Amino acid sequence: MIDAGELDPLGFVTDDLAARGALVETGEGHALVVLPAAVAAELGIPEAIALATDAREGYIGCGLGAPLLDGLIASVRATVPVASVTWQAEPPKLAVAERLAERVVVRNGVADVLGIAHGSATYVAGVFAWAAEADDRYEGLTLVAAHAGTTSEPDGEVMAAITRLIAGHDPRVIDEREARGATGAATVIARRAGEAIGPRLDEVGVAVARRRDRERDRIDEYFRSLVGEAQRPRRQVAREAIEARVAALRAEHASKLRDLASRYTLRVRLEPVALVAIAMRVAEVRLRLRRRKGERELALHVPPGARSPDALACVACASTTRAPLLCDDALHVLCESCAPDPNGRPRCPACRSSKGARSS
Ligand SMILES: [Zn+2]
Ligand SMILES: [Zn+2]
Repeated sequence: MIDAGELDPLGFVTDDLAARGALVETGEGHALVVLPAAVAAELGIPEAIALATDAREGYIGCGLGAPLLDGLIASVRATVPVASVTWQAEPPKLAVAERLAERVVVRNGVADVLGIAHGSATYVAGVFAWAAEADDRYEGLTLVAAHAGTTSEPDGEVMAAITRLIAGHDPRVIDEREARGATGAATVIARRAGEAIGPRLDEVGVAVARRRDRERDRIDEYFRSLVGEAQRPRRQVAREAIEARVAALRAEHASKLRDLASRYTLRVRLEPVALVAIAMRVAEVRLRLRRRKGERELALHVPPGARSPDALACVACASTTRAPLLCDDALHVLCESCAPDPNGRPRCPACRSSKGARSS
């Protein structure tokens, strides 16, 4: 996951508006935009606007969560563009890639490097906008990427390079038109984006729950004291009147708690903002995995600038791993959370489903 600060909301907004026919003049941290009337009407903004990274006087803010950016993200939802580019970065030297590949640790078996060569590979990267809303609103952008064929995941160095590339800060990029073979990996990265924002959503959930509990305690305490007062009136009151008053307070209390539950329910949205298929030259390592009497071969990729080979896709979840556990039957790759115990006999969902399909 990357910080919102590394992406450029202003650039995203002005690019999008330019694509809709706007005239854009950009400066440092701000931009002047003249929009076609129909587009301005659709977005609910004036035809001539001044945009800035932060909202300030005379400018419309397009930092994350600004209404304009929200509107744009919602309107690209239906037609997420899959751009296709070629990244002309030098692939890693073979000797370097081989040393990196030798660091792959199979937790319950052995990995040997059989061969290594330069080749081409396509990665699909997606920028996703997420928002979590309860009594307060939290949001951010996250970038995920996967090898289009194997859905393995590049390391942090490569992800940073892809971020620069998407932001337009890498001159070694050639634009192309078609984005072939991107759809399968796009599905995987959408699932992976969901996982990427998981830890952040956990924090958000804890903060929301804390405020909800504090508010509930306050409401409970308030009604407890009102009911107490109603039950011990200072002057003579008919018992029926007391009971009616207490019943009314209990009903109001219950209704306040229902409101509370809906106000503090976390609603999460995750939407792709852009998908990019990136073709590049990589070092491709042929790896042999062995476990007991079984063995299989696997392609492992090392993209330009990587400090580790791609993490391998887990067959049981959307995650990846650099310390795989192999299943007994087919030597499928399982990640640390799906198969935490290296000494156990891992349950492999990929084997189970193929056995079920054959039904023999
Ligand atoms: Zn897994
Ligand atoms: Zn298996």
